[in-house]
Amino acid sequence: AFPYTGVAGTGNERSFIAIKPDGVQRGLIAEVISRFEKKGYKLVAMKMIWATEEMAANHYDDLKGRPFFPALVKYFASGPIVAMVWEGPDVIKTGRKILGATNPQAADVGTLRGDFCLTTGRNIIHGSDGPESAAHEIGMWFTEKECSAYSRSIDSWIVADN
Ligand code: UDP
Ligand code: MG
Repeated sequence: AFPYTGVAGTGNERSFIAIKPDGVQRGLIAEVISRFEKKGYKLVAMKMIWATEEMAANHYDDLKGRPFFPALVKYFASGPIVAMVWEGPDVIKTGRKILGATNPQAADVGTLRGDFCLTTGRNIIHGSDGPESAAHEIGMWFTEKECSAYSRSIDSWIVADN
């Protein structure tokens, strides 16, 4: 067994991905899941949760000193989010590519932010930015029991180490 927060650099790398309140309100839940699912990544945990401002502030701990922090905390706690853990090779870095740049105006077309939003303050989705934040965020939002380690019969059609 491996730690439920994942093992970066292996096929069991895990990332915390959350559809923010605007993504939920705008009906983009299925679109987001679809992009990760079709890529081949494995969904190992998911729940809808309405974060308190305390939870939002803890989640964005590293941004505490920034001018936009109070607005960010209010935004993240403004409605339910869909919190997920996705697993697979390079899911942290590749997941960030699927999201696109933080500022949607700089995000490439074909990315979620490039295709579905307009401003940094309403950029629909969160993704862990590295192995340490992935471990912290998965540990904060999910328990070990909520994360299912399972195999899919199709796995050998998706991943091969050759
Ligand atoms: N954010 C903002 N204004 C800024 C920078 C960031 O409102 O100038 C918000 C935005 O929602 C962003 C979040 O704060 O997604 C976290 O910022 P970070 O730099 O970690 O970007 P991310 O990792 O989400 O791409
Ligand atoms: Mg970030």
